Amino acid sequence: MTGPANTSGITGIADIRDITDEAAMRIAIDQARNAGLVGEVPVGAVVMRRGQVIATGYNRPITEHDPTAHAEIVALRHAATLLGNYRLPECELFVTLEPCAMCAMALMHARFKRVVFGALEPKTGAAGSVLNLFDNSVLNHHTAIQGGVLADECSQLLKDFFAERREQYRQRRASDFAEAEVIPTGDVTEVAVPTTTPLDGINP
Ligand SMILES: [Zn+2]
Repeated sequence: MTGPANTSGITGIADIRDITDEAAMRIAIDQARNAGLVGEVPVGAVVMRRGQVIATGYNRPITEHDPTAHAEIVALRHAATLLGNYRLPECELFVTLEPCAMCAMALMHARFKRVVFGALEPKTGAAGSVLNLFDNSVLNHHTAIQGGVLADECSQLLKDFFAERREQYRQRRASDFAEAEVIPTGDVTEVAVPTTTPLDGINP
């Protein structure tokens, strides 16, 4: 990825930042796809530092038997280990879904410079949907927050994933029902008696 090489002319800093944000979010989207491929809810994250990828992560609580293994935490841990520091003030984290309260606090503890997310999470989002921990001046002095970058793509990944899961569930239910229907019953045995049987010769 190239940095903001040209800041002159009609291309302003804001435009360059937008392009860079989208490019970073596309890396996070690729990570989210990785999560979907292993059956996890598709959320992905990437940690950037001075325009470079430092670490990536995708959602994996089921695989890891770890309820804290959200994409942000996985990426954050990799970044902190790589940099040998529990504080990451030069880093920005991009994540496809609005962070939950656990991730929001972890990112603030790590003193991330900025957190950028894609889709809103109306049930657990802690960056404005349910509450906004980043906006609390008592809790947060370091981390800027921004949402809505490639929100439609990020959200579509989740919609497709859950639609596929619902379809699998429906098919499983239909298949269980079909198996239940072929269990033989007494009525079936009676009906199976051939009508051409010379009943007169057997029965008294
Ligand atoms: Zn989280």
